[in-house]
Amino acid sequence: MFERISRLAEQALRDEPPSREDALWVLDGEDVALLPLLHAAFLPRERHFGRKVMIHILDNIQNGLCPEDCGYCSQSSDSTAAIRKYPIKSDAEIFAAAERAAQAGASRYCMVLSGRGPTLERTRKLAGLVREIKARWPIEVCVSAGLLEEEPYRRGHRVRILQEAIAPLAADMPPAVCDRLHHALAVIYGIEPWVVLKDICGLPDREVERAALWMADAMIDAALRDSQAAQRRPRAIKTIGGR
Ligand code: SF4
Repeated sequence: MFERISRLAEQALRDEPPSREDALWVLDGEDVALLPLLHAAFLPRERHFGRKVMIHILDNIQNGLCPEDCGYCSQSSDSTAAIRKYPIKSDAEIFAAAERAAQAGASRYCMVLSGRGPTLERTRKLAGLVREIKARWPIEVCVSAGLLEEEPYRRGHRVRILQEAIAPLAADMPPAVCDRLHHALAVIYGIEPWVVLKDICGLPDREVERAALWMADAMIDAALRDSQAAQRRPRAIKTIGGR
């Protein structure tokens, strides 16, 4: 077992992926000991990142009180776990926690809410909190708020959803560029990438997601470039009798 783990570490240091057989063994092998495996995983990590770590502060901004009954979850209505239960924290409490995280040197502040998923109103509130935190402090923000409902977020609503999604960028974009970005994103937002990339190209689900996100990033970058170019472009000056 130790030799196999050492071999995998050496392979990783050469940037060689494990074979399928080795990967399954790491995940499922009955003779795999966790501590040697963790040490082996540390070697390529240390090679690439040294001993630096990124601190993410996780804040349960709403705890317990979930009406669902997921058997494994301490937040469920059926759970008897001794947890503190409280509704969503106030904006002031959330901003104070985000500020503490930023001042402590965290690279990311993560807001986690119990519950199956947010309403549209709650989603708007969370989006506002994220914008405000990012405007006030140099910290990334992420949110774990559960599943988005089918209605009104997915089916047939891509035009409005994407309008809302790019609204923060729209203020700094010429309307024509903003419209083009909106239309381009609409092409990759729904089932279309799955039809082409999964059904026709045969990609696995994860790769379809990666490709769609990559396309979205590229479109946003292009729109931002076009906006900056439009701002730099000198306005035409009309002179009487000039050429
Ligand atoms: S929906 Fe989420 S928070 Fe609620 S019980 Fe299930 S896992 Fe827990």
